[in-house]
Amino acid sequence: ASNSYIEPVYMNDLNHTFLTEENTRLENATILVLCRNWELEDILSSMRSLEDRFNKDYHYPWTFLNDVPFDDEFIQWTTEMASGKTEYGLVPPQDWSTPSFINQTKYDEGIQDAIERKILYGFSKSYRNMCHFNSGYFFRQELVNKYDYYFRVEPGVEYFCDFQMDPFRLMREKRKKYSFIVTIYEYPDTIPTLWETVEDFLNEYPQHLHPNNSVGFITDKTPIGTNALDLGGTSYNLCHFWSNFEIGDLNFFRSQAYLDYFNYLSKTGGFYYERWGDAPVHSIAAALLLDKNEIYHFEDIGYTHVPLFSYPESKQIKKYKRCIVPKDENNLNVGIASCLPRWWKLGGGKRFLKEYYHEE
Ligand code: GDP
Ligand code: MN
Repeated sequence: ASNSYIEPVYMNDLNHTFLTEENTRLENATILVLCRNWELEDILSSMRSLEDRFNKDYHYPWTFLNDVPFDDEFIQWTTEMASGKTEYGLVPPQDWSTPSFINQTKYDEGIQDAIERKILYGFSKSYRNMCHFNSGYFFRQELVNKYDYYFRVEPGVEYFCDFQMDPFRLMREKRKKYSFIVTIYEYPDTIPTLWETVEDFLNEYPQHLHPNNSVGFITDKTPIGTNALDLGGTSYNLCHFWSNFEIGDLNFFRSQAYLDYFNYLSKTGGFYYERWGDAPVHSIAAALLLDKNEIYHFEDIGYTHVPLFSYPESKQIKKYKRCIVPKDENNLNVGIASCLPRWWKLGGGKRFLKEYYHEE
């Protein structure tokens, strides 16, 4: 089925259509990897999986970014594994290093505090740089500037099903700007002041809040569809899209709304004094700044990044998409740890299953 395009198959919609030859074309898109030289083996494994399940039929280019130069071995092996062209970029220090306005004493105290509270990666300065970069800089790197869409891939991930569609094309045709597979709760200790900072941002830039936002997905005690600014006492419920998988519109991140948002967050130093992850930062932006219909759940790709799994439950879909999935009890989607039921409740998905609601 080389270079054919199939409408995605949904849980409740098994009518899929092959489009004709003249309808097949590539989008202005890249598969984007930020990683380190020593992660070669695990990124090759991710590449093998994504090439076999999707990209071997499309040959989208791969873009690799690193804060130090990639070595020859990394370049040679990843070039062989890719079916499309590969490019390798060095992130400039000013996009990676801890900003000069960060107070060193306060930073060291923040690290100590994070270690004592046993926060995941609490000790790590490079992890904080990475999260800051992935929040504010990946979309304006020299090699990335020419693209409209990106597909984020991390080392050691796996895709369980044939895509049978071009997800970039789906994004453009359905006017989607941000997409996810897994959505879960963030560790509160990593973001003690993130939400109050977001509220301050909204007070300063009320024009950036989209009238059809999905704030109801990320806050509690907020009636769906209401404007967060109208309500005191709302709080972030920690739901976020797991950003190790993302397909997104780079022009959303380049928008004035997102840049104002990122700059506002960044200047508080919270990425460093606390340990704000790029996942809640992206997710809150998507929920506030986008139309909720611009956010898309890729429910049928099937995906794992340790320690979570997500895949279609439907036998039909597994068969049509040649899925090889782990044992059913591993499926996160409707478990108590998942925020998906909240997403469905908002009307963001085709499934609307009462028995899965987490009622407040
Ligand atoms: P986790 O998924 O939150 O456990 O964190 P990862 O270790 O997977 O890091 C997230 C992404 O950033 C992965 O693609 C890593 O390869 C990449 N990454 C993390 N730290 C660094 C770093 O210091 N340098 C570079 N170049 N990439 C990094
Ligand atoms: Mn990872």
